[in-house]
Amino acid sequence: ESPDGRKMLEFRRNLPAYKEKNRLLAAISQNQVVIISGETGCGKTTQVPQFILESEITSVRGAVCSIICTQPRRISAMSVSERVASERGEKLGESVGYKVRLEGMKGRDTRLLFCTTGILLRRLLVDRNLKGVTHVIVDEVHERGMNEDFLLIVLKDLLSRRLELRLVLMSATLDAELFSSYFGGATVINIPGFTYPVRTHFLEDILDMTGYRLTPYNQIDDYGQEKMWKMSKQAPRKRKSQIASAVEDTLKAANFNEYSSQTRESLSCWNPDCIGFNLIEYVLCYICEKERPGAVLVFMTGWDDINSLNDKLQANRILGDPTRVLLLTCHGSMASSEQRLIFDEPESGVRKIVLATNIAETSITINDVVFVIDCGKAKETSYDALNNTSCLLPSWISKVSAQQRRGRAGRVQPGECYRLYPRCVYDAFAEYQLPEILRTPLQSLCLQIKSLRLGTIAEFLSRALQSPELLAVQNAIEYLKIIGALDHNEELTVLGQYLAMLPMEPKLGKMLILGAIFNCLEPVLTIVAGLSVRDPFLAPMDKKDLAEAAKSQFSHDYSDHLALVRAFEGWKDAERGLAGYEYCWKNFLSAPSMKVIDSLRKEFLSLLKDTGLVDCDTSICNAWGRDERLIRAVICYGLYPGISSIVQNGKSSSLKTMEDGQVFLYSNSVNARESEIPYPWLVFNEKMKVNSVFLKDSTAVSDSVLLLFGGSISQGEIDGHLKMMGGYLEFFM
Ligand code: ADP
Ligand code: MG
Repeated sequence: ESPDGRKMLEFRRNLPAYKEKNRLLAAISQNQVVIISGETGCGKTTQVPQFILESEITSVRGAVCSIICTQPRRISAMSVSERVASERGEKLGESVGYKVRLEGMKGRDTRLLFCTTGILLRRLLVDRNLKGVTHVIVDEVHERGMNEDFLLIVLKDLLSRRLELRLVLMSATLDAELFSSYFGGATVINIPGFTYPVRTHFLEDILDMTGYRLTPYNQIDDYGQEKMWKMSKQAPRKRKSQIASAVEDTLKAANFNEYSSQTRESLSCWNPDCIGFNLIEYVLCYICEKERPGAVLVFMTGWDDINSLNDKLQANRILGDPTRVLLLTCHGSMASSEQRLIFDEPESGVRKIVLATNIAETSITINDVVFVIDCGKAKETSYDALNNTSCLLPSWISKVSAQQRRGRAGRVQPGECYRLYPRCVYDAFAEYQLPEILRTPLQSLCLQIKSLRLGTIAEFLSRALQSPELLAVQNAIEYLKIIGALDHNEELTVLGQYLAMLPMEPKLGKMLILGAIFNCLEPVLTIVAGLSVRDPFLAPMDKKDLAEAAKSQFSHDYSDHLALVRAFEGWKDAERGLAGYEYCWKNFLSAPSMKVIDSLRKEFLSLLKDTGLVDCDTSICNAWGRDERLIRAVICYGLYPGISSIVQNGKSSSLKTMEDGQVFLYSNSVNARESEIPYPWLVFNEKMKVNSVFLKDSTAVSDSVLLLFGGSISQGEIDGHLKMMGGYLEFFM
């Protein structure tokens, strides 16, 4: 055994999970379902699958064991498998492997496979009984992601058919009771953990301690945040307004007498709907100058925030100085080489600062963290079944999450946690976060249910851990029928079968499919990727007119989507000449968004290749890529029934939808600058209700395009057009 190996073994033996090894193994062999809870970092993810592997290898069944451990995110599946292989002194792909979308490392002798939940669901599509699999471990069940909740319904069913199959659920919180009763009183094992005490500083303490002054002005430093704030403040969302009013009331009622008058004044300027980048910068400098050594972990809401904050900090005299600070980022869409850096120790005298999403809350443990800065928010989709609208906005986290985040600071020594919100606001947080299945549209999930042949949608979903409301289920089914993915018997159509193979919103899948069939894939890939990220066109408050003018130079034919295609192509050219950043700056475009669009395009293309709709020769796929009329048709095909009619009144146009009456365009749409739109229809990507209904990302289309590529016309009309189109569309009907 090498010295490295001995050190590794020593490390493993010191993890809390190791002390429970025998108890865990006994429970797993005696029970079909076991639930393991234990604090983050205690060794659940890296150790439990290994315990099973080791005990199986030395048992009679050794040669046949096959363990699958699911992770909610691809980045954790990859990093965990790498870690486990190295703990075993092996290369990845020997006994331990991984598989995520588009990537994997798995050999003939692989017995323990880490994969994303989506990968296991896809496997169930072709292998209903998981033949040969002996153990399924579902990790991070406390996150209550849609895929995980879905997988549990399927596995529960499977367990009754395969009595020798073992299921292990792992959770970072003690909410194990819910899961236990779902599986008929399954055994729960808690791994006692240890963390050093962490001192908590709420906003009022931070202001008192550092002397930082909040003013209404210095909190609105990130215009993206402000845009979010403006919308979310007015959007009629129950939970949000509850907290918002709780904030107002509790702030008024709270007693801050023990704090200085400057602090009290500052607090009255605090804007709960905005993340104060300046404050974060200030606290980081404070830690760097005043505090003992130790890494700092900053919890932000998403990669876009992280990128903007990173840019800001790089420009800081202290924080941007590589001889003093190692500034790193950690989020789901980063490359695996980048990812490894966050585990490394910095050189002595250099302080590591990691800007992370809530991925660092439970799935990735950075060992040397001593300071945590918590913005108190996470990006979360919310769906309102009544209005049938959804949005992705930063919202307040739960108490459980806040405790998790704080706990990250106490792993190696006593730590400090800086919460950028007052104590009274924390008190108003919900105990647990609402599970995803209850707060997102169910369209993709419904397609999955049908393609796995799991029976009727409503019946299947009624067997979930917590079932979504019936109205949400009906909306999803209705939508899938309208777009032609389900027939009137609620069975998948040919289109539906293809859509089920594409892990994205059906409307985006539809565009990709049609773009592939009509050989105009290049621009369609850009549009679909663009719709999957935050709006790449920036609209800073103080330079609104300039930004709008910059956007309108990309448009000439009443389409935000085509404007994006042009902006992206321009960026691509500039990037080839290494002037991508400058190009973005000049044109009010977000450079990180452009990069993400670029990589998503590749990902989407290979997904399409998997479906068999695209051959390897992509030049053929784009033979018609310059035909804007065709692309317009593809956009219409995807966005239908998101459609409004354009009412011409003399020299100006107004908009109307069937459900909402008069609607409006967001001011940064290229169509908002046109007084007259010489088309009868406008298809749009999204609508938001903020007092009035506003449309986001729109493209004008003609009657014939709508007739052919929309859906609300009679069969007779379709037949007529079909003949005209030479049967091209037969495929979809
Ligand atoms: P849990 O799943 O209970 O949160 P893990 O099994 O992920 O815990 O982690 C156990 C320990 O192994 C932690 O102390 C963590 O820091 C360490 N660890 C995990 N992955 C890595 C890695 N890639 N590099 C270094 N240390 C790691
Ligand atoms: Mg874990």
